[in-house]
Amino acid sequence: MKTNADVVIIGGGIIGCSTAYYLAKKGKTVIVLEKGRVIGYGGSSRNGGGVRQSGRDKRELPLAMYGVQNLWPHLSEELETDVEYYQQGNLRLGKTEEHLKILKGLTATAVSLGLDVKMINGEEVRAICPHLSDDVIGASWCQSDGHANPLQTTMAFYNKARRLGVCFRTGQDVLSIKTVAGRARKVITGSGEFEAEKIILAAGYESRAISQSLGVDVPMKAIALDTLITEAQPPMFYQMLGTAMADFYGHQTTHGSFVFGGGSPLDSGSIVGVGDHPPVAATGATCKGILGYIPALKHAKVVRSWVGFIDWCEDKVPVISPVEEVPGLILACGFSGHGFGIAPSVGTVLSQLACDEKPSIDISELDYKRFSDRD
Ligand SMILES: Cc1cc2nc3c(=O)[nH]c(=O)nc-3n(C[C@H](O)[C@H](O)[C@H](O)COP(=O)(O)OP(=O)(O)OC[C@H]3O[C@@H](n4cnc5c(N)ncnc54)[C@H](O)[C@@H]3O)c2cc1C
Repeated sequence: MKTNADVVIIGGGIIGCSTAYYLAKKGKTVIVLEKGRVIGYGGSSRNGGGVRQSGRDKRELPLAMYGVQNLWPHLSEELETDVEYYQQGNLRLGKTEEHLKILKGLTATAVSLGLDVKMINGEEVRAICPHLSDDVIGASWCQSDGHANPLQTTMAFYNKARRLGVCFRTGQDVLSIKTVAGRARKVITGSGEFEAEKIILAAGYESRAISQSLGVDVPMKAIALDTLITEAQPPMFYQMLGTAMADFYGHQTTHGSFVFGGGSPLDSGSIVGVGDHPPVAATGATCKGILGYIPALKHAKVVRSWVGFIDWCEDKVPVISPVEEVPGLILACGFSGHGFGIAPSVGTVLSQLACDEKPSIDISELDYKRFSDRD
């Protein structure tokens, strides 16, 4: 059994898999340790598939824009798998003047950061997507946004990384990381020990407990989110939809089904804690939201719904950085529900950090220092 590599990655989600791929491309030896029996069973295969720049926090916008401009358009070709990427825009919909005020605020911020997004009126919205209700009076419109298939993309990175020699070990529950001569060096699992020059921690919300073994603490927690899928519909539209009130978001897939996520008025907002999660209520509330905007889906049957957990960081953006106090350790967690769309960019910068290169995308505001400095 291989237990030594240049880099050990903890977590076999899309962040771990994409990073493994970009590192293998650079000629590094890599071991990925995944606790589950299969790869990508966490948030990476359960998410809404949004590849979105609009509505992003300005600290992570460079990652989102870089991915959309440079990586997503040719990802299927590069990974030799159709990741079902559609770049047909994102409509964030509003039905009231209050909604439009929210959307205008978001749009103004994004424009000031260099994103091509604008406000459009109800007629313009329906010219783009004729299936939307006449109740929609306006939207923000980001033409370069899109969506992709989360499971396909995660598995595409995994398969390509494997073909380049990356060793994936499932059933490896990482318990702690240990230092040797002041550097993070050993990864201890329930059944063994692994060693590397660099250790990348990408285990979602469970990263917190693992990093605490080194005295490093990222303030984040697990939050449950619901998603549902309908039976297949005839081709209708391929824009990504969201709303000012965040009562639902979603898109039609290549298969024809619609994938939607949303919140529940019963759970005081669009997200709930792990302990008090009412999935049925959340699905019903999401359906109610959808029908208020897309009446054409009135007879579409929901065939399945599921829950996924996000790593909700205290300040709602991830930590992607080395840790000054523990050389050799690189953090990649706290994605706060929007890590799928930026995963190719994140994999790119993590592979650079692990090779001691300067990241080609600005991640300066995603440093762990923002938490360690305040102690
Ligand atoms: C319902 C839902 C909808 C979402 N919608 C979107 C969206 O539309 N667009 C978007 O950009 N993002 C979205 N997200 C967020 C996105 O899915 C995540 O940010 C992204 O998948 C993070 O990938 P990851 O690899 O960090 O995490 P994960 O996929 O959770 O992977 C972490 C892995 O680490 C493993 N692990 C945990 N503990 C250990 C351990 N001790 N030892 C070894 N392995 C361990 C887990 O088993 C898991 O496989 C959504 C998330 C959810 C849940």
